[in-house]
Amino acid sequence: MTKKFYITTPIYYLNALPHIGHAYTTLAADIMARYKKAQGVPVHFLTGTDEHGANIERSAQNANVSPQEWTDNLAQKFKELWAELNINYDDFIRTTEPRHERTVQEVFEVLLKKGDIYKGKYSGKYCMSCEAYIDESELLPNDLCPIHKKPTQFIEEETYFFKLSAYGELLLKFYEANPTFLSPKFRSNEIINFVKSGLKDLSVTRTKVKWGVPVLSDPNHTIYVWFDALVNYISAIGYGKKLGLSEYADYKYNFDEFWPAEVHLLGKEISRFHSVIWPAVLMALGLPLPGKTFAHGWWTIEGEKMSKSRGNFIDPRDITTKYGVDSLRYFLFREVPFGGDGDFSMDSFKKRFNADLANDLGNLLSRTLNMAAKTVVEIPQNYTEKSNLLAKAQETNKTYFEQMDNLAFDKALDSVWFLIGDMNKYIDETKPWMLAKSEPEKAKAILLELIFALKSVVGWISPFMPKTAEEMARRLAVGPIEKYAPLFPRIEAEPKHN
Ligand SMILES: [Zn+2]
Repeated sequence: MTKKFYITTPIYYLNALPHIGHAYTTLAADIMARYKKAQGVPVHFLTGTDEHGANIERSAQNANVSPQEWTDNLAQKFKELWAELNINYDDFIRTTEPRHERTVQEVFEVLLKKGDIYKGKYSGKYCMSCEAYIDESELLPNDLCPIHKKPTQFIEEETYFFKLSAYGELLLKFYEANPTFLSPKFRSNEIINFVKSGLKDLSVTRTKVKWGVPVLSDPNHTIYVWFDALVNYISAIGYGKKLGLSEYADYKYNFDEFWPAEVHLLGKEISRFHSVIWPAVLMALGLPLPGKTFAHGWWTIEGEKMSKSRGNFIDPRDITTKYGVDSLRYFLFREVPFGGDGDFSMDSFKKRFNADLANDLGNLLSRTLNMAAKTVVEIPQNYTEKSNLLAKAQETNKTYFEQMDNLAFDKALDSVWFLIGDMNKYIDETKPWMLAKSEPEKAKAILLELIFALKSVVGWISPFMPKTAEEMARRLAVGPIEKYAPLFPRIEAEPKHN
């Protein structure tokens, strides 16, 4: 078991309101953090917002506010949503905070002195939306950006470069020695091939962008927003203090306690930044590399790509105000393997809600407690009698932990629901309510097994559905005294209007 667990989400770029895609990554981190905390592992869960760059400058200008006001307002929206989704991060970093900006400046100077950053000239095709130069080999016909499908601009400027080209061989060796670093595995070849094709030095400053962190020794330049953003993973946990910045001598965290991160979570579109550039920067700084970068897939909505023009951005609150936070948390991680792409449709959401939550889980709990109300008065705290069901529960436990440690959330939940199915079947077959009169001891034993296994279910689902797990634990502890409302009232089909 690891001694600590440091997990991060990407910091979200503040050019739009948070939507279900942001929620997905942050919920995944929350689930892992809760899972590890429950095992007594010291956890540090970092999220935050990426607040510099030309796009934000422009958005603020269009809205007639200062960039700082713009980012203050949007960062708050992210925090509010995380609170509503019951996301318990340990720290929220904003890249406009002094603790971050000062560290970025210092990191830049350190690399400049070491020769890993040098001054040169750059010319190339630049995508304003990516805020990045696009390599000739990746441009679409008519010099369109391959991501935004928008025209790029030819730009020539004085710039500082990071010597990325010097790290290709070292990166390839690292990937080979650490085969789970690039996760999930099916995405790893893309990165490996990209590195094998040869890395070019990376332009890491801009003279045209004013809303950015100025280079300390050359303030005409601001630091490239991506270079700035990646440093958040170390600035937040006190790298500035480690570098000896006097104003952070009393900083709340000690860098060596948390670094390296065990997991960086990210969307697949930003893999290269996290799996190529970031490890190279860390190598240049002489720091150990993270355990894993995990790139998850994208959600489509009702079969279509989420986009502003289609107006199909889903605010998670559209779901949670009607059906509760836990059902959304459950759906997103049961429906699609973490790492793959998925589709969100109300139809499949309602199906899972009714089948998995209202029927399988909700009914199992209410049936068991109702029968216990008539049969068992006291539930012993440490019931350990060997039985078939309990052996199955032990197997489930093993599978669950293996899958969770691999971030295979869907498989972990599959194994739990498989057992829930078995438990419902067990009730149907043994009919304890009939045994209660003829063989009361046997009925009691069966109910004890069910209650014992249900308590395990509570532990397993708790990272995904914390409120539900809490409520189940309460009902199981109190025993059959109260009359309970269903955990998940079925969603009835809406009447058709003609
Ligand atoms: Zn672009």
